[in-house]
Amino acid sequence: MATTVMLIRGDGIGPEVIDAAVRAIEATGAVIEWEPMDAGAGAIPKHGAPLPEVTVASIRKNSLCLKGPLATPIGGGYRSVNVALRQEFDLYANLRPARSFPGLVTRYEKVDLVVVRENTQGEYSGIEHFIDPTKNAAESISIITRFGSDRIIRFAFEHARAHGRKKVTLVHKANILKMTSGLFLQVGREIAQSYPDIEFTDIIVDNCAMQLVRDPTRFDVVVTTNLFGDILSDLTAGLVGGLGLAPGANIGEQAAVFEAVHGTAPDIAGKGTANPVAAMIAGSMLLDRVGQKERGVRLEASVRRAIAKGKDLTPDLGGSGTTERFTDRVIEELNAT
Ligand code: ATP
Repeated sequence: MATTVMLIRGDGIGPEVIDAAVRAIEATGAVIEWEPMDAGAGAIPKHGAPLPEVTVASIRKNSLCLKGPLATPIGGGYRSVNVALRQEFDLYANLRPARSFPGLVTRYEKVDLVVVRENTQGEYSGIEHFIDPTKNAAESISIITRFGSDRIIRFAFEHARAHGRKKVTLVHKANILKMTSGLFLQVGREIAQSYPDIEFTDIIVDNCAMQLVRDPTRFDVVVTTNLFGDILSDLTAGLVGGLGLAPGANIGEQAAVFEAVHGTAPDIAGKGTANPVAAMIAGSMLLDRVGQKERGVRLEASVRRAIAKGKDLTPDLGGSGTTERFTDRVIEELNAT
């Protein structure tokens, strides 16, 4: 039976990279029924809102979504659609893998790690205000709960187990933020007892940033709170070639949204030269999620081989190819396996 997946093509280069990803996903033989839906700036003329009710209802029904980058209109009181989706469906886990691409020259080879970022709490709880009438002092409240810590840390351990990973590193700042970050660390130490097959270690965030830059190969699964995860996951994307190659997944109990991490890239939109790699690997994560892991692994391996062969690479990777021609190369690799 076909799995139904909502498809939000998005704004800017979104339609180009998502169409390429859909072609590549289908070339794996995956049986998916795509249900196109509107969101982002492109949804406003038709629906009067960047996150139409019909789109929310459809995600609620189908629970799976592949999404292109979305532009948040400036002004008009619109909040970011990505944040709205995260809140609406309590997508508490942000999964950001970073793996070196053979053939691409970056500072390190053999990086293979995944950042598991808590997506709903901490400094991003959205509780902040000015504390004086002249608006020269402000405060922000960071919320960390045992419930929120427990579910993200368990998610990280379960992810490690399901993907043959050996080590979970919990990143914190418990030496200074003794209660919030301290609680997160405490819960981590407790949960680690239930996973004797996975090595557990913790590290203070500033030291973690330095160690990631000095030798990222010593990290495997990194689990951390919202703000630290936001920063570290862009850092790790940079270590393996930048945001154009970085996939991400936002996962909750009710829904999972797979995406490329990059933005709408208005400077190259419509030119047919956008790099579809991040969207394709997001597609491979989607296949993993829907029980078609083998197809997902084949897709990612084919993308990697196509990059290593270096033919028709898009301009951001130093080539003179197009989105379509590079997608043809990926499909050739898929058909060869
Ligand atoms: P937004 O406002 O939606 O975040 P942005 O242009 O500020 O858009 P990105 O879209 O992340 O931010 O783009 C940053 C730069 O990286 C741009 O110059 C863009 O051309 C380039 N870029 C981003 N994604 C890709 C991609 N998939 N392929 C090629 N270049 C990309």
